[in-house]
Amino acid sequence: MIIDCHGHYTTAPKSLEAFRQKQVDGLKDAKLSPAKNSLVIRDDEIRAGIEGAQLRIQRERGTDLTVFSPRAGGMGHHIGNATTSELWSDICNELIHRVCKLYPQNFTGVCQLPQSPGVRPDNCIAELERCVNEYGFIGCNLNPDPSGGWWKEPPLTDKWWYPLYEKMVELEVPAMVHVSTSCNPGFHTTGAHYLNADTTAFMQFLTSDLFKDFPTLKFIIPHGGGAVPYHWGRFRGLAQDMKKPPLKDLLLNNVYFDTCVYHLPGIELLTRVIPVDNILFASEMVGAVRGVDPETGSYYDDTKRYIDKATWLSDADKQKIFEGNVRKVYPRWGRNK
Ligand SMILES: [Zn+2]
Repeated sequence: MIIDCHGHYTTAPKSLEAFRQKQVDGLKDAKLSPAKNSLVIRDDEIRAGIEGAQLRIQRERGTDLTVFSPRAGGMGHHIGNATTSELWSDICNELIHRVCKLYPQNFTGVCQLPQSPGVRPDNCIAELERCVNEYGFIGCNLNPDPSGGWWKEPPLTDKWWYPLYEKMVELEVPAMVHVSTSCNPGFHTTGAHYLNADTTAFMQFLTSDLFKDFPTLKFIIPHGGGAVPYHWGRFRGLAQDMKKPPLKDLLLNNVYFDTCVYHLPGIELLTRVIPVDNILFASEMVGAVRGVDPETGSYYDDTKRYIDKATWLSDADKQKIFEGNVRKVYPRWGRNK
């Protein structure tokens, strides 16, 4: 079985974005704020979007299941306040649940959290519990920077985040560290802000004792771990200078990387540097990079092709990347089946 641990609902019906626009308009003029029940999306609209894109691509590429979450750029935690994010998360997560109900063999849910700049993440606990207990979701996306590129929150290792971590541990759900749109013109969203956040989160983990406090807490750092695998020697050396244990003991029971690296040499570096036990297959389709690589004739985000071509990996290694590690990191998935 081939499980893609990183997919977003980038093909939702247009009425979802129209609702969001009304919600944004309502921040200036409350009379314009839409009621939740004013958004009506039919199953056939959901089917049209999914079958023409994510489901078709799963079939074409030979993958089986996508761990599916709301569009990351659309989370927009910087917009409005906690109430804004609560309604928006409620709506986006419910749509993911509907996709998973329509295609239970192909999609399993992960939620966005109703984060808001400067608001303690305690306010996310109820939505996480709802999505896990009522919808059967198996994880969440956690935004380390709800300000959208201005980095105003305490680091992910600060006790600020601990109530949420306590709930994640209790529910046995991991978080993918995933920012949303960049409002900082210096950071391109998918080309810089995403990779910055991946690298930043890793360094926060490295400098902390977070996993002493939460030995079973798990994070996935997406996009191949940002700059982390490429600079593994720097990170090992920094940890050593700080008299920290080797990275393997310090955080590799808790931190995992996905394979959203869009060329074979990058996948080779990732899989040679990071232990196979810490790598989860993912493509992020349909997402950040949508074109065909003229050098290979294949889609950049067809990451399965790169793993298939990784002759230095054994079949057992590939099985871990494609399936085994997902079962380990998302223990509720197996249980919900
Ligand atoms: Zn993503």
